[in-house]
Amino acid sequence: MNPEAKERELDRLMAEIQAVLAGKRSPHTIAPYDAIALTVSPSQTLAQVRTELGDCQRCNLCKTRKNIVFGRGNPSAHLLIIGEAPGEQEDRTGEPFVGRAGELLEKMLTSVLGLTSEEVYIANVIKCRPPDNRDPDSCEVSACLPFLQDQIRIIAPKVLLLMGSIATKAVLQSEHGVTRMRGQWHEAYGIPTYATFHPANLLRQERNKVYAFEDLKAVEEKIRASKSR
Ligand code: URA
Repeated sequence: MNPEAKERELDRLMAEIQAVLAGKRSPHTIAPYDAIALTVSPSQTLAQVRTELGDCQRCNLCKTRKNIVFGRGNPSAHLLIIGEAPGEQEDRTGEPFVGRAGELLEKMLTSVLGLTSEEVYIANVIKCRPPDNRDPDSCEVSACLPFLQDQIRIIAPKVLLLMGSIATKAVLQSEHGVTRMRGQWHEAYGIPTYATFHPANLLRQERNKVYAFEDLKAVEEKIRASKSR
């Protein structure tokens, strides 16, 4: 293990714990001790990205958020799922996709992909809740996107799955939303990327579930093929 990296990581944890004790942030937002990444790579880790994000004040969403929702799951996941932004429950808990949309996402993962949410990594384009769950504006997306890009680079998944139009437009740098972009493979940051409907959309528009099922099947095949190579 790299002793300097270990010391840096312990410093980060201490600083985060002190911030929790001082009531400045929620314990849910502390990234766990990142020993595995430290042993295998001297390069940047998710924990370091979280530290750099800090008590982010880069856009106005910091004024109304309760917690920054960084991401959760397996940092070595083959599949990185990218949603839009935290909702009310995510803001309260500091964890992505824990509300009704999250429950549906979990069901889709287990029933179609045979994966649990611990086996994938889940993040959002925007890490703070927009008031009343409005769509994030372009300044908010620009302020947050570099941190998502770092997460993508570090996790280096086999496949990116974009949920909904906000994620589709931001990650694919496209003016078109999910309806137009789904059903075919794209590439983002050199990674095969697929867009599908956001689970919140599927809760409102049952008929889109059949398309989402097809999309997840395509994703499953791609992951399987990449493992057998
Ligand atoms: N919707 C999202 O896009 N992300 C979440 O974390 C929750 C709901």
